[in-house]
Amino acid sequence: MAANKNLLMLPGDGIGPEVCNEVRKVVDWMDKRRAVSFDVKEDLVGGAAFDAHGTPLHDNTLDTAMNCDAVIFGAVGGPQYDKLGWEARPEAGLLALRKEMDLFANLRPAVTFDALLDASTLKPEIVQGLDIMIVRELTAGVYFGEPRGMQTWEGKERCIDTQSYTKDEIVRVAEVAFDLARKRNGKVTSAEKANVMKTGVFWRETVTEVHKNGNEDIELGHMYADNCAMQLVRWPKQFDVIVTDNLFGDILSDCAAMLTGSLGMLPSASLGATDVTGRRKALYEPVHGSAPDIAGEGKANPLAMLLSFAMALRYSFDLGDDADLIEQAAQNLLSQKKRTADISSDGCDILSTGQMGDAVVAELDKLAA
Ligand code: NAD
Repeated sequence: MAANKNLLMLPGDGIGPEVCNEVRKVVDWMDKRRAVSFDVKEDLVGGAAFDAHGTPLHDNTLDTAMNCDAVIFGAVGGPQYDKLGWEARPEAGLLALRKEMDLFANLRPAVTFDALLDASTLKPEIVQGLDIMIVRELTAGVYFGEPRGMQTWEGKERCIDTQSYTKDEIVRVAEVAFDLARKRNGKVTSAEKANVMKTGVFWRETVTEVHKNGNEDIELGHMYADNCAMQLVRWPKQFDVIVTDNLFGDILSDCAAMLTGSLGMLPSASLGATDVTGRRKALYEPVHGSAPDIAGEGKANPLAMLLSFAMALRYSFDLGDDADLIEQAAQNLLSQKKRTADISSDGCDILSTGQMGDAVVAELDKLAA
């Protein structure tokens, strides 16, 4: 059938190409078995783009990213690029994509798989059945606020960063959080430091206003960010969607991720604004990096990448049933003790990256039969 869904695949460096290759297998499977076709373009990013073009993100690549339905991003970076100037660094390619596509909402789910409960440092009863979503504001706040940098003040050297939010920047990310909660368990917790920061008070007031303005079907709670960190390790199942700013989101999402215990299993999505046609710019990537220590060895766990693709199906293509199938396939394989080395335990079959991708496809076949 004709493909009307445009994907841009940016595998990047290290294990990025290896895990993206497994997404191709699922895309092919969907084409054959689900009658869902994608037009997939592939391009370079990060160190690979620097090697080819002298820049981590070529203008043509950015153009394609701006005009596709979803970007599937592997990972960038590697020790060979560590001494490059900031603009040429692989990570600058990813940051430029986020900025140019205005990807202001970063979605980081923390879901525990029963078969991997042992991988968490918390007691099984604390994390069993955990399914929370952190929505982090990604394009404003203290990482971008001006003024920033070194100054001389009263004859002394000092350095400042500025926490700054406009109302629009808070409104749009809060709306994403309420929309998500509506499709999940109907609860949003907003985290800030309204007790000590003016921007925290503004954040709280603005989220409350967005709540009153058409979102009162969702339960809204407010929490100071430090308490939220504590609650995440005390009783994480009290949360459904957490919405927070860039800095607190950075910290809280890593904290939540570790409740699940395994870097090779963590997907993410970054969403931009909806345009007149209803399409959102979006980029999907695993949380892990390029893992140069295992690159090229067939040891990479592709599940974080495949689960990121599942998020693309759910949030960019409204194919929630297909996303469910991929998530279920991953769950089943873990229960059958088919694992890549990073998450293996006693009695497991250790699969290579390619074998795990094949196993996911075989499981999808069974689930869709
Ligand atoms: P990393 O996530 O690449 O690796 C940390 C550890 O986890 C390594 O031991 C690695 O082997 C393991 N690991 C990671 N992903 C795995 C997977 N899918 N399967 C099995 N094991 C996996 O983090 P790092 O070592 O701090 O960084 C390596 C490079 O990646 C650096 O250049 C860093 O800048 C870059 N990085 C890129 C991104 C990104 O592209 N979004 C994110 C983080 C780090």
